[in-house]
Amino acid sequence: MRLQGMGASPGIVIGKAWLLNRERVDVQTRTIPAESVASEILRFDQALASSVEQLETVKKQFSDRIGESHSYILDSHILMLKDDMLTEGTRRVIRDERIMAEGALKKVLDKFIAIFNAIEDDYLKERQADVVHVAERILRNLAGHEQVTLADLKEDVIVVAHDLTPADTIQMDRQHVKGFATDLGGKTSHTVIMARSLEIPAVVGMRHITARVRTGDPLILDGDSGIVIVHPDSQTFNRYLEKQRRFIYFERELHKLALLPAETKDGCKLRLSANIETPDDVCGVLEHGADGVGLFRTEFLYLKRRELPSEAEQLEAYKSVIEMVHPEPVTIRTLDLGGDKLIGHIPYSGESNPSMGLRAIRLCLHHPKMFRTQLRALARAGVYGNLKIMFPMISGLRELRLAKEMFYRVCDELRKEGVPFQENIPLGSMIEVPSAAIVVDMIAAESDFLSIGTNDLIQYALAIDRVNEDVAYLYEPLHPAIMRMIRNVMTGAEAADIPAAMCGEVAGEPLYAAALLGLGLRDFSMNPVSVPRVKRVLREVTVEESKRLARQILQLSTAREIEEYTKAYMRARFPEALMWEGAENGNAGTEA
Ligand code: PEP
Ligand code: MG
Repeated sequence: MRLQGMGASPGIVIGKAWLLNRERVDVQTRTIPAESVASEILRFDQALASSVEQLETVKKQFSDRIGESHSYILDSHILMLKDDMLTEGTRRVIRDERIMAEGALKKVLDKFIAIFNAIEDDYLKERQADVVHVAERILRNLAGHEQVTLADLKEDVIVVAHDLTPADTIQMDRQHVKGFATDLGGKTSHTVIMARSLEIPAVVGMRHITARVRTGDPLILDGDSGIVIVHPDSQTFNRYLEKQRRFIYFERELHKLALLPAETKDGCKLRLSANIETPDDVCGVLEHGADGVGLFRTEFLYLKRRELPSEAEQLEAYKSVIEMVHPEPVTIRTLDLGGDKLIGHIPYSGESNPSMGLRAIRLCLHHPKMFRTQLRALARAGVYGNLKIMFPMISGLRELRLAKEMFYRVCDELRKEGVPFQENIPLGSMIEVPSAAIVVDMIAAESDFLSIGTNDLIQYALAIDRVNEDVAYLYEPLHPAIMRMIRNVMTGAEAADIPAAMCGEVAGEPLYAAALLGLGLRDFSMNPVSVPRVKRVLREVTVEESKRLARQILQLSTAREIEEYTKAYMRARFPEALMWEGAENGNAGTEA
């Protein structure tokens, strides 16, 4: 049986399944008499205290294994256990509605989930899994269930579970857990992020794997293509054994790459930088040998809380990233909230088409007070290293001019107040709206640099809502229109003598790397784990060769033709690499 999920952490494992059977807690919503309210709140508080204690113990026990970079995930779970909205919120429901602790907690949790569901950003949306993990731990403590852990397995296994929490992942005995597959989970859940850095191959979003697999079943798990094979026949087994051998060799080579410079075979200097969402992500940036941060999405600072972040708080976050990455540059993008990415900070009128609504720079220009606070924090943070600022969703010159004007006004204010700030911080425009790609010469003339946001550029150019699963099959990065737009932006930037980077997902896909180089791209920004993979490709090709490839591609007329051509080219060029094979567009959760 071949099951398809989402490849979440690369690698191939062959082994036996071990099913994590966690009793599901039956959530009672029974009401309680008034005199039981106090004891019910006490019961809730005790379950809370046990939950904190358990997580503190995991943190202590495994501190050597998780290191600084991941203990923050446990810290964030511990903080959630102390968060008023969750704790006081639950106590209030127990008190006011006289519901049992389990039911009260569930009610509060549902409210959290509704808030997260309204978020458009995939990364932030998946943070709801963290709240669910925390609440389930409290529920298990309320029910007096034992907290099953993955710490003391006796033999090598592939863990199969409905869902895994970051605490589960940390406690996994690396010696024995060779991989994992879960029913739930998205590519950017904390569990997956950790699995990747612990280098445990994983497939998530399998929907029903726990119903199909029993402990002891022989499995093959392919963390690249997201495939799990149950009871493989001998032919399949041998094929994967060979694939595994190649993968191990390939990974070893990748590790060595972090230390090597990003340049083409013929010595053309490139910049491979990383995209981050929080200051904590910087560890991954350095680990994977990225040349600085090409995109710091600042939304996270605004979304994880109820009030707008203050100037001082933002300054602290930006400063810490800039200092850690110094002397390499950090490009911070001003706020890209909008439509349903807003949570209550700002009066919000329901928009029927939020991604085309009051989003990103439009929203900031509409709320100058909020924008001013961010710009002040940025200008001040500039003194701590090498900062560039870029504006999202610029659709024409007017917006760029207004944003720049506002920034210069903020600098004047700081000057008058005698507050230290950095003069002449480079100001750039994101090219992610087709109109900007068309008038790129005009935008380039008034920008210090450009950065192509392919995620949105594809969405707007091809009229495909990037979060609508029904049209996902039309989301084609290699559409000839996109190729031409990229080329146009590169030519426009070159004519204006300014650099143009790319920070959308396309920049981190090894399959596209040589073609992008051929279109003129020298500055790629991507998810930190992709850096060595893309670097590997780019260090092996010459500029001349990539230009030939790009010329060929630009003559083809459909995305399918371009994809097939590129895949065939890369397969022939890098026959030993596995990356192109994983690029199947499987439907998660299906049986293939
Ligand atoms: C993009 O649109 O490509 C981009 C990098 O920004 P985001 O994904 O945050 O919209
Ligand atoms: Mg964008």
